[in-house]
Amino acid sequence: MNLTQSYLNLPEIFYKKVHPTPVHEPQLIIWNDELAKELHIEETPEHLTGLLAGNEIPDSLTPIAQAYAGHQFGNFTMLGDGRAILLGERQAADGLSRDIQLKGSGRTPFSRGGDGRAALGPMLREYVMSEAMNELRIPTTRSLAVVYTGEGIQRESVLPGAILTRVAKSHLRVGTFQYARNYGTTEDLRALADYALAHFQIETNENPYHALLEHVIHQQAELLAKWQLVGFVHGVMNTDNMALSGETIDYGPCAFLDTYDPATVFSSIDRQGRYAYGNQPGIAGWNLARFAESLLPLLHEDPEQAAGDAQQILDQFPQSFQDAYNLGLIKKIGFLETTPENVRLANRLLELMASEKADFTLTFRSLTLGIPKTESVFRTEVGVRWLADWQQATAEEDSLELRKRMQQVNPALIPRNHLVQQALDIAEEVGNMQPFYELLTLVKNPFDYTQDQLTKQQLPPDTDQPFVTYCGT
Ligand code: AMP
Ligand code: MG
Ligand code: MG
Repeated sequence: MNLTQSYLNLPEIFYKKVHPTPVHEPQLIIWNDELAKELHIEETPEHLTGLLAGNEIPDSLTPIAQAYAGHQFGNFTMLGDGRAILLGERQAADGLSRDIQLKGSGRTPFSRGGDGRAALGPMLREYVMSEAMNELRIPTTRSLAVVYTGEGIQRESVLPGAILTRVAKSHLRVGTFQYARNYGTTEDLRALADYALAHFQIETNENPYHALLEHVIHQQAELLAKWQLVGFVHGVMNTDNMALSGETIDYGPCAFLDTYDPATVFSSIDRQGRYAYGNQPGIAGWNLARFAESLLPLLHEDPEQAAGDAQQILDQFPQSFQDAYNLGLIKKIGFLETTPENVRLANRLLELMASEKADFTLTFRSLTLGIPKTESVFRTEVGVRWLADWQQATAEEDSLELRKRMQQVNPALIPRNHLVQQALDIAEEVGNMQPFYELLTLVKNPFDYTQDQLTKQQLPPDTDQPFVTYCGT
C-alpha cells in the first residue's frame, strides 16, 4: 500500500518514529470493503493482513507515533500515541487525504506503563460505533479492519488481543496544540498551525490563525449538534479526544441514549457526570477554550490583544452550536425554519420526553411514521396536547412530504447498547463473530424506513439497572 507521511515535515518534537511490534498469529476478522474502495486500495485483504497486523512493514513506510498532551477529566497531562501507530496517509475518493493508523499495535515511546495493546471487544466496539455514526451521516473516524492477533493480553483477566485500522482525515487533536504550547517553542507551535491550515485547506485574508480557530469552532459546533440530535454520548471528551478535523474520535465508553434524560452518563469512570449527554456542548466549549489558549502566541503579538481576539472568536461557539442544533431539532419534527414558535414546540416535546422517560429514537420515529400513539409519551395528557398543537402546526403540509422529510433526519434504528454488548461478549468469550456481523448489517441504512428495518429495532429489556459502559482497553 502506498502511503505518504506528511507529519515528517513537522519539527521532530511532534512524533517518534516507531515500528509496530509483530504479533503471533494474525487473522483478519473484519474488512471494510466499501471504505477500501473509497481509499482506492487495490490489494486484497489477505494480501494486507501482514501490514495491518504490524508484522510486515515495507521499507517505503515510516511509521510514527504522534506526541500530544491533554486535559483528562480536567487535569492536564502529557500523553501521545501510547498504543497507536500512524502508518501514513493516502488520498481518498473525495480528494482529501486519510490517515491510516493501527491501534493496538504495540508499545511506543508514549506508552508509559501500558502494553500498547488492545482487546478484541473494545476494537469491535470502535468498529461498529464508528461505522454506525458514519451511516448516521455524522463526521467520524472510520474503521478499515480488525485483525485478531492470536495473542492474549493481560487485563483484569486475559483477553483476546486485536488491532484496529483507523482511518481519519487527520489525527490532530486539541491536545496536539496543547502539547506544542506547553512543550515546544512558538516556532514549533507556528509550524503545527501552518501544517493544520494547509491540511484542512483553510484559505483566508485575515490572520490565518484566527481563521484556524474559527474553522475548528464551527466544525465542532456542527458535530456536537449532530451528536445531540441522535442521542450520542461520547463518554470521554478529554481534549486529546477532540479532533481538529471535526470527526468524532476515540470510541471508548460511548453509547446512544435509550430513554431521553439529559443527565445520562454511561461510562463507569465518569463518576461526576462531567461528560453527561446534556453537558457535551458545554464541554466542547471548554475544550475549545483550551485550544484557543494554545494558539494565543499566534493570535496577536500583544498578549492582551491576543486574549481579546481569542475570547471574541470563542464567543461564537454557543451561538453556532445553538443554531445548528435548533435547525436540526425542528427538522426532527418536520419543520423547515427555526422560528421561535417551532423551536418552542420542539423543546416542549423534549421536556415531555424527559419527564416521561421516553425512548429518544422511538419517539421521533413514531411521529415520522404517523403512529405517535404507539409511544406512551403521546398518550399522556400533556402528550395529547402536544400532538394536537403539532398537528395544527403541520396541518397545511402534504403528509407524505412531511413524512419523507422526517425520515431523512430521524433514524429508524440505532445500535442499541444491549445489542452491542451482547455481540461483543459473544465475540470475546466464545470467539463467535456471527452476532457482530449481524449487528454491522443492522446499523446500515438507518434512515431506511423499510418494513425490514423497522422490525429490527429491539428495545432494551426492562430493567432498573442503568446501562454501564466500561472504558475497556
Ligand atoms: P484514551 O482514554 O483512549 O484517550 O487514552 C488515553 C491515553 O492512554 C492515550 O495516550 C493512549 O495512547 C494511552 N493508552 C491507552 N491504553 C494504552 C495501552 N494499553 N498501552 C499504552 N498506552 C495506552
Ligand atoms: Mg484518546
Ligand atoms: Mg481510547
